[in-house]
Amino acid sequence: APLIRCRDLTRVYRMGDNEVHALQGVSTDIAEGDYVAIMGPSGSGKSTFMNMIGALDRPTSGTLEIDGERLDNMKPDQLAAFRGRRVGFVFQQFNLLPRTSAVENAGLPLIYAGIEAAERKARAEARLKQVGLGERMDHQPSQLSGGQQQRVAIARALVNDPAILLADEPTGALDSQTSEEILDIFDQLNREGMTIILVTHEAEVAEHAKRQIVFRDGEIVEDRS
Ligand code: ADP
Ligand code: ADP
Repeated sequence: APLIRCRDLTRVYRMGDNEVHALQGVSTDIAEGDYVAIMGPSGSGKSTFMNMIGALDRPTSGTLEIDGERLDNMKPDQLAAFRGRRVGFVFQQFNLLPRTSAVENAGLPLIYAGIEAAERKARAEARLKQVGLGERMDHQPSQLSGGQQQRVAIARALVNDPAILLADEPTGALDSQTSEEILDIFDQLNREGMTIILVTHEAEVAEHAKRQIVFRDGEIVEDRS
């Protein structure tokens, strides 16, 4: 069975008398270990789709199954628990806590998971070393370059051993040299078996993925490997 199974997903946003049909019947499967780039113009439904996969939002209709669990009929607290256990998020703007060391930032998800301090530190340190930031674990975000901050964010996304890594324009705030370094980390993680789904506007970024899915007007209009 695929890791992610979507059937006829729709999402309708209602604002007063207006309706926005952000997803209009999306069906696809994503295998464990795949590396998928999500593309398409602004407003085409990319964020809405990622919010479903990331258990941040529920579809209006359709079914969504991840690793055998049905997300479409989960209650909000079940969705939050699923998100905390199974999904790691990386953002364009890193979203690190200021005045907080790299190792504390990377360990944040473990606080919510109820892991005690010594193990949090050990697991955060291991992930920071994995992304090449072993030498700067006590630095705060303001003392790190953009690429180093994004490494901390990747370590944080991995610290819970997620089943899926979701990234929204992860290189959008970085120069091209630093972007390549971050994409090398994603490539390495995928070779080690991590399932990665990333949103990008850039063809060069999408070329790193094994598969490109293109959205338009809330539908998948292209899906190539
Ligand atoms: P991007 O195109 O970079 O993915 P958007 O600007 O489309 O980002 O969306 C950013 C966030 O704002 C998303 O979480 C999305 O769900 C939300 N959003 C987008 N459009 C609207 C809207 N018309 N009303 C309310 N929230 C919106
Ligand atoms: P993308 O990420 O491709 O830019 P989105 O998924 O953010 O697209 O948006 C798809 C459509 O849904 C857009 O028309 C957007 O304005 C609308 N939308 C997104 N989020 C919201 C929201 N929270 N409330 C209302 N409309 C939204």
